[in-house]
Amino acid sequence: RAKSAGGNRYELADPEADARAITRHGLTTALPAALERGEFFIEYQPLVHLGDGSVRGAEALVRWLHPQHGVIGPDRFIPLAEHTGLIVPLGRWVLEESVRQARLWEGRVLDGGATGPLRVNVNLSPMQLTHPGLVSDTVDILEREGLEPGGLCLEVTESALIGADDDLLKPLRRLAEMGVDIALDDFGTGYSNLANLRRLPVSVLKLDRSFTQSMQHFPADPVDLKIVEGIVSLAHSLDLAVTVEGVETGAQADQLRELGCDTAQGWYYARPGPPDQLHELALADAIS
Ligand code: C2E
Ligand code: MG
Ligand code: MG
Ligand code: MG
Repeated sequence: RAKSAGGNRYELADPEADARAITRHGLTTALPAALERGEFFIEYQPLVHLGDGSVRGAEALVRWLHPQHGVIGPDRFIPLAEHTGLIVPLGRWVLEESVRQARLWEGRVLDGGATGPLRVNVNLSPMQLTHPGLVSDTVDILEREGLEPGGLCLEVTESALIGADDDLLKPLRRLAEMGVDIALDDFGTGYSNLANLRRLPVSVLKLDRSFTQSMQHFPADPVDLKIVEGIVSLAHSLDLAVTVEGVETGAQADQLRELGCDTAQGWYYARPGPPDQLHELALADAIS
């Protein structure tokens, strides 16, 4: 694992150099063997309650430790896996691994005297949504690992649900009825009809990083502030919680807290890291 000394950071492979060294075709054909050989690993990025700074859980983010090219980020290989269908077994592996991890945190954190269990968020690709095994695989994994459905949140991008018909929503509804949370990821980038939100079985909106970025300057653009404020109040009136991604500074966190956002995720709190990072942060005092 390509870690730099003294920390748990590594550099994601340089995209330009990579493009020369490995073609899309090369990566695509290497994916199935990579899954078989266990070359994927998961990092977890804390989700922090904006009100009190406590760690409530983490998002699972998959990486590929390529034997020649080092660590490759998901933006480079998830689209390829989605294209070939490998995303279905890969996604199932991520789910299983993440649920097992959440169960481990549960035991260790509760033993350590923390307030509540840590939940895990797992990203789902559009192809996983249409795969007939989604509900049964998820139920099997939760039962086998012994995690309550409420300990799992599945993230689906807004664009994957645009124009979704009832057939596509049915499995998500079943999962939501069981108590699994569904989050609408990258919200605000997909031009979806806001009224459409009522139809979707989601309980969390994840406001896209582009909104957080616009809070970078002080004073922030008043129109951007109004937009976020509007989204938050709409979300809350529909009983949805709001999570913000890409929080990089304390000023952004303050601004977003003031606007009423519930939960935050970003480098300001912690980068994605190994599973022990989460359990250590959760046991430490509130981190903001
Ligand atoms: P996402 O679900 O929107 O995940 C958030 C991304 O923002 C992650 O990138 C995370 O590392 C990055 N990030 C977090 N905090 C900050 C910050 O403060 N500043 C900046 N600039 N970036 C931040 P990552 O890990 O490269 O993942 C990219 C995308 O790949 C994810 O976006 C998600 O759509 C997809 N992905 C990751 N893991 C999985 C997976 O297991 N399955 C599927 N289907 N997709 C995955
Ligand atoms: Mg996500
Ligand atoms: Mg996101
Ligand atoms: Mg995003």
